[in-house]
Amino acid sequence: NDDIIETDALIIGAGPVGLFAVFELGLLDLKCHLVDVLDKAGGQCIEFYPEKPIYDIPGLPECTGQSLIDNLQRQILPFEPVFHLGQLVSALARRPDGRWDVTTDAGTRFNAGVVVIAAGSGCFTPRRPPIADIEAFEGRSVFYAVRSIEAMRGRRLVISGGGDSALDWTLNLAGVAERVTLVHRRDQFRAAPDSVRRMQELAAAGEIDFVLGECRGLEGADGNLSRVRIAANDGGEIAVPADRFLPFFGLTMKLGPIADWGLNLDENRIAVDTEAFETSVPGIFSIGDINTYPGKLKLILSGFHEAALMAQKAFRILRPEKRLLFQYTTTSTQLQKKLKTA
Ligand code: FAD
Repeated sequence: NDDIIETDALIIGAGPVGLFAVFELGLLDLKCHLVDVLDKAGGQCIEFYPEKPIYDIPGLPECTGQSLIDNLQRQILPFEPVFHLGQLVSALARRPDGRWDVTTDAGTRFNAGVVVIAAGSGCFTPRRPPIADIEAFEGRSVFYAVRSIEAMRGRRLVISGGGDSALDWTLNLAGVAERVTLVHRRDQFRAAPDSVRRMQELAAAGEIDFVLGECRGLEGADGNLSRVRIAANDGGEIAVPADRFLPFFGLTMKLGPIADWGLNLDENRIAVDTEAFETSVPGIFSIGDINTYPGKLKLILSGFHEAALMAQKAFRILRPEKRLLFQYTTTSTQLQKKLKTA
């Protein structure tokens, strides 16, 4: 079938460890495709701390999350990895020939010789507020992320939350929407003080509404919102006319479909051996934050080491007829040719 993508390795997760796995597999002439549910590579480094300095990457006294990922991308460029972003790996099944069928929720299908799970803490999922029937409005009137500012033009918005996302979107959408109502249960915020000050100025000038309270219910039909019911901290209940509700209560991590693949798990992490970081199922490896073994440290440098050992075993599975030569990149002209530096 032409629609099925054949690859040596299919890497689930394009965080720092998944990216470096491309390098280690690439040195052994093994080709990789990567899938990540986020719309960009980088995992936690990009999602949580793109601008914060990291001090414990060997040989790099200081770098940011962003610059580490930029450098990893540059380092793996010679191996031409193919990225499939914004897709969740949803299913994994062994083929009769011992290879693996891997499928994403977008319908992309792979036939892979080995599978490398580098899924960090699992998928980032928005935290849903405890409001009855909210699911019925999701994707139509309730959104956990703003993909397009234009889609909010002229709308009546209720935004809920007290962190940076809630405050940033309140400020950015104030001039675009017909009306913005920010709802937060306390008058303390977990957001940049400057954003809080600017929000309070807009509220004082009557350009937005700020309500101290909690959103309790949604009114509307067929997924189309008409009002948001709010229990105000002063004891009253109000119903604010609205056609979009944007709750920003942070992200949680879920193991997701990986839990259903029959791998041995230990407290939601994948148990591996420390020789090759292979799971209880031969041909499926797990590296980085998602795995566990005695002495495991959730550090980027541990994930890099795990990737190197994984690649050796993956080579033996994928190229059983070939001999594996141990070589240094410094002295091997063969490796340097692959890296296009020779
Ligand atoms: P991740 O970075 O979590 O990437 C995993 C990727 O897999 C994600 O992008 C996710 O979207 C994707 N994914 C998951 N499930 C699926 C699926 N089913 N389908 C498709 N994609 C999927 N470590 C250090 O070594 N030094 C530090 O200074 C340091 N500082 C940190 C500071 C903060 C604030 C945080 C939060 C972490 C820090 N860490 C630090 C930890 C470090 O970021 C992690 O160890 C590292 O990101 C793990 O890399 P990973 O590639 O294993 O997983």
